[in-house]
Amino acid sequence: MKNIVILGSTGSIGKNSLEIIDKFKDKFNVLALSANKNINLLEKQIKKFKVGMAAVYDETLAKQLQKKCRNTEIYSGTDGIKKLCAFKKCDLILNAIIGSSGLKYTVESIYNRKNIALANKESYVMAGPILNDLIRKYKVDIIPVDSEHSAIFHLIKNLDSRKDIEKIYLTASGGPFLNKPIQEFVQITIEDALKHPVWSMGGKITVDSATLINKGFEVIEAVHLFKIGYQDIDVVIHPQSIIHSMVKVIDGEIYAQLSPPDMKFPILNALSYPEKLKNPFQSLDLYKLKNLSFQKPDNNKFPLLKYSYDIGKKGGNLPAALSIADDIVVSQFLERKIRFNDIFPGIKNIVENVKYMETPDLDDILRLEKEINYRFEIY
Ligand code: MN
Repeated sequence: MKNIVILGSTGSIGKNSLEIIDKFKDKFNVLALSANKNINLLEKQIKKFKVGMAAVYDETLAKQLQKKCRNTEIYSGTDGIKKLCAFKKCDLILNAIIGSSGLKYTVESIYNRKNIALANKESYVMAGPILNDLIRKYKVDIIPVDSEHSAIFHLIKNLDSRKDIEKIYLTASGGPFLNKPIQEFVQITIEDALKHPVWSMGGKITVDSATLINKGFEVIEAVHLFKIGYQDIDVVIHPQSIIHSMVKVIDGEIYAQLSPPDMKFPILNALSYPEKLKNPFQSLDLYKLKNLSFQKPDNNKFPLLKYSYDIGKKGGNLPAALSIADDIVVSQFLERKIRFNDIFPGIKNIVENVKYMETPDLDDILRLEKEINYRFEIY
């Protein structure tokens, strides 16, 4: 029996993971859950899985929930969520918090020597080298939940990433605007951006997929997770989203991982790792696949992908700035304050106003979030 803590249980990854856990009651036990503010769903989850401890980021909402869940200890705020990272009984923490704020809980989990199923890609984007040092020092396992990284994680298990790998092909669906002419980008609405052709996900990540910055983040994540260079990763547009990534070995062979575009696959994989469990969901029917196509991304239409590579290569505190800037600018877009075409210039403006630090420490990175938020969120 694995005791699991889920951070961000009311988001898309959190909901999917509880659906899986529900199918494997003899394998997994939910120890604690956290949510930002969706207390109605959290209450249902707490009752269904008989969860003893939970945390709600919003203090007022935490108090409301406590009245409804008398048998559950409800904590609040950053410190409340951090408490969930420290339970003695916990075997695995699933960090499914979206955005830059997830980093501090990844770090807290490492400090408590907990293995992490990591869905919060921003952790590696913001603090890749720092996380790698901490992981070595505290001897914890990080199992990626992001579908592409989950694929690569399994594909390269028997390879030496320093000498065997020639190229990693990170696949991307291309998002809703893959075939939209660039001239029409000025008219893109929120509704258009939220209509992802393949994946069903939360608002922020769906917009990130539409601008392709999501793929840019994933490139940075892969560099640190697999300890490879930026020149060794290519992004390949693969609209069917059946192949979740590929690895080209120096002997010329390419290994690929295939499954339906459903996050339950990489989540199940991460929760059960290193064990394999029989899949209770619909798996891939090869005979129903019509074609699998591949193309290069269009950097003119999607400048944030190339920009992410540039920022990743510059390193230091800039990838963290990129992640924080994206949180801010995408939320402005979702609040209808700016247009789709304003997202890239908005992000660039924030990143370029950050003072470059070559080797920031964790406090520098965490402070950066407060500094940028303070300067840019209040208008
Ligand atoms: Mn992904």
